[in-house]
Amino acid sequence: MNEKFTSLPLEFLIRLEQIVPAAFLAEVPRSFEIEKATSFRVNSLLANAVEAYSELRHAGLDVSNCIWCEVAGTIPGAQKRLLSEHSSVRSGRVYIQGLSSMLAGLVLDPQPGEAVLDLAAAPGGKTLHLAAMMRKQGQLSAVEPVRNRFFKLRDNLSCYGADDFVRLYQTDGRGVGRKTPERFDAVLLDAPCTSESRFKCRAPESWQYWGQRKITESARKQKALLRSAIDAARIGGRILYCTCSFAPEENEFVVAQTLRRLEGQVRLLPIELPVPNAQSGLLEWGGKSLPEEISLVRRVLPTEKMDGFFLALLEKVDTTTKDRNRKGP
Ligand code: SAM
Repeated sequence: MNEKFTSLPLEFLIRLEQIVPAAFLAEVPRSFEIEKATSFRVNSLLANAVEAYSELRHAGLDVSNCIWCEVAGTIPGAQKRLLSEHSSVRSGRVYIQGLSSMLAGLVLDPQPGEAVLDLAAAPGGKTLHLAAMMRKQGQLSAVEPVRNRFFKLRDNLSCYGADDFVRLYQTDGRGVGRKTPERFDAVLLDAPCTSESRFKCRAPESWQYWGQRKITESARKQKALLRSAIDAARIGGRILYCTCSFAPEENEFVVAQTLRRLEGQVRLLPIELPVPNAQSGLLEWGGKSLPEEISLVRRVLPTEKMDGFFLALLEKVDTTTKDRNRKGP
């Protein structure tokens, strides 16, 4: 193991070696060390992408267009400050957002006119992306229980021109499915997690609370939130579960245990990602095996431009039809 990276917890690095495929093992630890490129998304609710890129280039920013998202781009990490102080960010025309985070919107693919729920929404990057993809047509609800984060979410929606569209709820997402069963066409659960992919070697505070206990605590909350997200989705509705953790306990195991408990009420859908740095879900961890269908989930591996990310896309199944078929003549 490279000595430069030993500032991260050794247990974390050992786990990573078991999670990440051998071909990526040199690059992944490096991604915690380097200054990554900064990515952004042009807010199509308030701005035109071509004009926004040209304005940013005019201000001296070295913008590279993202090849798989026409409203996204990156700049060198060293220019982040210049971008965050630029009028296009301050006025809500450009949102600084990780490229991996943008995959959530692309995979959930909310349509104008749909009823959509964002169950863990602050500070609102993905809510804003969903609102833009829906062109503010339909219904978008966003939930955030933590007071200061709720206010940040509210401010962002206002600054980025979506406050007249998104319905905001300051409440615990775990109770939402029970209160609004089978209401939504699509539900995003960008779950609170140990944020392992945001660890930075030079920022020990990014991993100071990390450990097996924290992973277990997160997984417990994630399972309750995923159950609530599924309850809130209508039959045939889609649920996207994502985290920015590498831990299988927070990812594949949360999904597998939920599928098992709900016994056929939800199924996994395949995910096609527009990036090469991705792998299928793990089918084995800590001596435990997982069902073959878990290979449908996707792990995005960190690179110089992207953070690690986990995505699982579920569909709520009509079990009444299944029961009818089973009972048939
Ligand atoms: N989707 C957001 C974005 O892209 O800007 C980031 C969401 S962050 C990964 C997870 C959020 O879940 C945090 O804001 C956290 O406060 C919130 N959260 C924590 N516990 C929650 C709960 N019980 N119900 C709903 N949200 C919760």
